[in-house]
Amino acid sequence: MDAIENLKELFRKLPGIGPKQAERFVYFILHSSPDFKNSLVKAITELESRTYKCENCNRFFIKQNSNENTLCKICSDQSRDKNKLIIVEKETDIDKIEASGASYNGLYLISYGTVSPLQDSKKHALFIDRIKDKIKKQGAKELILAFSTTFEGEYSANYIKDSLKEDLDFADLKISILGRGLSSGAEIEYADPETIRYALKNRFDI
Ligand SMILES: [Zn+2]
Repeated sequence: MDAIENLKELFRKLPGIGPKQAERFVYFILHSSPDFKNSLVKAITELESRTYKCENCNRFFIKQNSNENTLCKICSDQSRDKNKLIIVEKETDIDKIEASGASYNGLYLISYGTVSPLQDSKKHALFIDRIKDKIKKQGAKELILAFSTTFEGEYSANYIKDSLKEDLDFADLKISILGRGLSSGAEIEYADPETIRYALKNRFDI
């Protein structure tokens, strides 16, 4: 594969990027200055070398120095309420909830996506095991499922709820989902702050 095709294929792996867009990116870069190309390469390299994945919530954060601990700012904040745990699909959902001004003071876990009925049982087991581990490790008393109101989001929330309800280890766990306000098909990423505050405040037990 030549250099142009290679980069095109890499861009096609990005979410929401089709072949035409991937081609446009490649030709834009091809015509850009050597400085721009070098900055792009440097930025991607630094993303790999300067970030760390929080071992508690799976969130990526910028390393300040090599001695820094392995927890992100939220997880290392002792004033956060360990009784509460929100499960979100992706990093940006945490940022949106934190920036919404909602009075949430608990912790988070990024599930890295959702599960769907077509996926095999191994994928489901991995998905739920990570969640169960985290609840136990943190000692959370309330779990808030903040998935998108898409088919996959709702399926995943139900799958988590059903799996936890049938496991005696989690008999005392309170499970809630975000309240109405997030319209059908909505992703937290695109919801406005007021909608997020409302949905979090008006969550209901399931
Ligand atoms: Zn964290």
